[in-house]
Amino acid sequence: MNIIVQKYGGTSMANAKCVKNVANKVVRTKKKGNKVVVVVSAPAGMTDELVKRAKEVTEKPSGRELDMILATGEQISISLLAMAIKDLGEEAISFTSSQVGIFTDDNHNKAKIEAIETKKITEALDQNKVVIIAGFQGVTRNFEITTLGRGGSDTSAVAIGVALNASEIEIYTDVDGVYTADPRIVPNAHKISKISFEEMLEMAGSGAKVLHLRSVELAAKNHLPIHLRSSFTDTIGTYVTEEDENMEDVLVRGVAHTTNNAKITLANVPHTSQNIAYIFEEIANNNINVDVITQNYVDKDNLTISYTVSEDEFDSALELANRIGKEVKAQAVFGNEKVAKVCIIGVGMKSAAGVASRVFRCLANEGVEIDMVSTSDINISCIIRESDYQKAVIAIHNEFQL
Ligand code: ADP
Ligand code: ASP
Ligand code: MG
Repeated sequence: MNIIVQKYGGTSMANAKCVKNVANKVVRTKKKGNKVVVVVSAPAGMTDELVKRAKEVTEKPSGRELDMILATGEQISISLLAMAIKDLGEEAISFTSSQVGIFTDDNHNKAKIEAIETKKITEALDQNKVVIIAGFQGVTRNFEITTLGRGGSDTSAVAIGVALNASEIEIYTDVDGVYTADPRIVPNAHKISKISFEEMLEMAGSGAKVLHLRSVELAAKNHLPIHLRSSFTDTIGTYVTEEDENMEDVLVRGVAHTTNNAKITLANVPHTSQNIAYIFEEIANNNINVDVITQNYVDKDNLTISYTVSEDEFDSALELANRIGKEVKAQAVFGNEKVAKVCIIGVGMKSAAGVASRVFRCLANEGVEIDMVSTSDINISCIIRESDYQKAVIAIHNEFQL
């Protein structure tokens, strides 16, 4: 018998009516003769609310205690869904990740799943029950509660699907697929019927939060396609799957953006053989993730080095940069929280020239200044002013007639 893993996000679980709608969908899948495992997120807005409550008590909650409160949101959803399914006459049982044994490392707030115990799940499936598991949360071997990072329920679902050797992973959300750009920013964005893992990895990694990055990494590694679709309609959504030969026919698959970026500049750093390595070693030693890096000669002996970090880490990154700046004798250190990143993504770019020039021309025509650029085979990323990001995404979307 097929095992299908379905994941329902926060908007799909927002209130009693939504929960009943999800219960109906689950029961329909079960009645078709499938074994069904459901992974759910906390009701919409609840995780934000829990973060807010923690921050009302303290500026800097410890990772452990933050996970303790954040993991509670998903526990509400699993029990409500189990009740709603039972009401429809099917057997269902809810489990937290500690009950199942979804083991993670001890990196609080961004833990990685290391192993999943399947015994409890398969026993319940064999008893003809729908199994409902709390997404986003995990447990360490030491029984500490962890969470996987915001949006992490997608990753829980894919990891559970891999562990159970599921025949299908369906991720249900509030849009009916992956679009060529965030439909909230570009109203005429259109739904992509099939996208390669590689492109989806770039989209998710570049801010398209419709899928959690780790979930795509896991699906790709295990060759397990994801069907992303709407919980409010029955239409076919987007298949995230292996690349096929037709996919390269499309030059640009989509545009993604993030506004959660900040830029730090160390100006006029004496260029010695040690300085650059030292700067980035110190940043790494302090666990700060750097995204785009540029370095330019100011004159033959001095360099200006800029890098972007996540806005959440801006304060600590700037404090660190000020310290490093003194050590490497930088003339000045600047920080700018108001930058955005716009990324143009497509496997078709591998074999085509001139995409970057079209992007730069189109942004220039809109009066958008490009501050930094980084490129890979299938991604061109531009750092721009935060206030320009909507204009930039729309212009690029039009330029490539997405
Ligand atoms: P869930 O709570 O179901 O996990 P999310 O809010 O995490 O849902 O993700 C869905 C949202 O992702 C959509 O409402 C949409 O605004 C946003 N999004 C960003 N980029 C894209 C894109 N390229 N295609 C579709 N949705 C996108
Ligand atoms: N509830 C968590 C969040 O809001 C996890 C998720 O939705 O995937 O980030
Ligand atoms: Mg999500």
